[in-house]
Amino acid sequence: MQVLHDLLPFEIPKFEYDSANPRVKKCQLCYSRLKENKLPACVEACPREALLFGTRRAVMDIAKERIYQNPGKYVRQIYGEREVGGTGWIYLSKAPFSEIGFRTDLSEIPVPDRTKGFLFGVAQVLLIWPVFLLGLSMARKKKEGGSEGKE
Ligand code: SF4
Repeated sequence: MQVLHDLLPFEIPKFEYDSANPRVKKCQLCYSRLKENKLPACVEACPREALLFGTRRAVMDIAKERIYQNPGKYVRQIYGEREVGGTGWIYLSKAPFSEIGFRTDLSEIPVPDRTKGFLFGVAQVLLIWPVFLLGLSMARKKKEGGSEGKE
């Protein structure tokens, strides 16, 4: 279970295990709205600009500026800057992240780096083994065919 916990550190996507019609759900950043050059619905709906949307670099710059311009208002940490190699969502907070339910035990190693070895193994199993087993099967059939002719 620890492996799953490491590979899905934020438990996203969510699986509806208990539903009769189970779906797998995650935020898609309102993809249909982005195609129409609109902001994500939650960003547009927030009148206090608690949520911002933009390139990671632009949003990181705004987050750093807010921390710098408002000493004491935020903890001096941008959650998501380094966690699991850097996330698509970043957060500022007045309270330490450990006190508001954020995982603070995460590695800075990107999740894909942890799965590379496994995915390489999958390719080996799916590509090399079937060819090898097919070769064995063909060799066996050829041998059986050859020995039938000699009897
Ligand atoms: S409203 Fe916000 S949280 Fe919901 S899908 Fe759109 S971007 Fe994601």
